[in-house]
Amino acid sequence: MRITTVELRRVRLPFLAPFRTSAGSTEGREVLLVRIDTTAGEGWGECAALGEPTYTAEYVAGAAGVLRDHLVPRLLAVGGEVGATAVAPALAAVRGHHMAKAALEMAVLDVELRAAGISLAQRLGATRDTVEAGVAVGIAPSIGALLDVVGGAVDDGYRRVKLKIEPGWDVEPVRAVRERFGDLVLQVDANGAYRIGDAAQLALLDPFDLAMIEQPLPPDDLAGSAHLARRIATPICLDEPITSAEVAAGVLAMGAAAVINVKAGRVGGYLEAARVHDVCLAAGVPVWCGGMLETGYARAANLALAALPGFTLPGDLCPPSRYLAADVAAPLLAPGGRLQVPSQPGLGADLLAEAIEAHTTATELAYPSR
Ligand code: MG
Repeated sequence: MRITTVELRRVRLPFLAPFRTSAGSTEGREVLLVRIDTTAGEGWGECAALGEPTYTAEYVAGAAGVLRDHLVPRLLAVGGEVGATAVAPALAAVRGHHMAKAALEMAVLDVELRAAGISLAQRLGATRDTVEAGVAVGIAPSIGALLDVVGGAVDDGYRRVKLKIEPGWDVEPVRAVRERFGDLVLQVDANGAYRIGDAAQLALLDPFDLAMIEQPLPPDDLAGSAHLARRIATPICLDEPITSAEVAAGVLAMGAAAVINVKAGRVGGYLEAARVHDVCLAAGVPVWCGGMLETGYARAANLALAALPGFTLPGDLCPPSRYLAADVAAPLLAPGGRLQVPSQPGLGADLLAEAIEAHTTATELAYPSR
């Protein structure tokens, strides 16, 4: 395909309720969409970056800028026909900015898959028709409120719940949820809120039979994570630092993680995400698919990724209708906490033109430049 137009579109989707983690609180999800026109049709990508650089360094306005000024020009400089496998090499000279790169690769992949009549699940080598979803629960204003939210998820058929924790909100909420919902698969995510000096406090979580503790220490403290793994019984899962298959291999070699959270945006796209999966599968390390409070469009694509054989743990894959009051893609259903892996050609979902229009806050033409 040859790319003829690249449009950057920002939408803002309201949350059902403010979503608070140690990375901050927000009322709505600002999302950057990338739309391309090509000689083989139209394609869309969704950038995982949040509105502010509080969770990762990437954020919507920054991603739009790097796409416009550095990534789109490099992809177009390839000249002539491009395919999805050519995107990452074309962008490799730009360091970082994985979420922006992934959005551009998604758009090209969307066109390519639709033109070829195959689904993302087929393209990646998915081996399952359905995947199990878990629910992620933010830091609640009280234990009672937390139990209400977890109870609602359990009533809806979810068997795995992930609690966000931070210093001052860890042992007591975990104890309360474990005592109320004995057989729930329970895990926690600290988003890097602890330090290695907190090892004794984190060891207090060991009696609650947690499936894992995700990102207890800051993303750059891999040595600390390897050290912590020897001091607590709960398996450590890493999220934020896993930026490529190469990094994943290094993390496993140093014993810094027993589980890996895979996010396509964080590693630069679905093709690299599949390689992270391959590295972990070969090492016998389980992976699961993380979430970025994405729209139904990216979440449908995540279902395909999560259907690969090494994704043996439930992912943060619940329908966006659990956290968004409006969406740009058709609703996903999760009866009993399971979702169907999309089989339609393309990334797995169609975008709703009217919904995109209704929630657009800004549109910018990145190519051809005006
Ligand atoms: Mg996480």
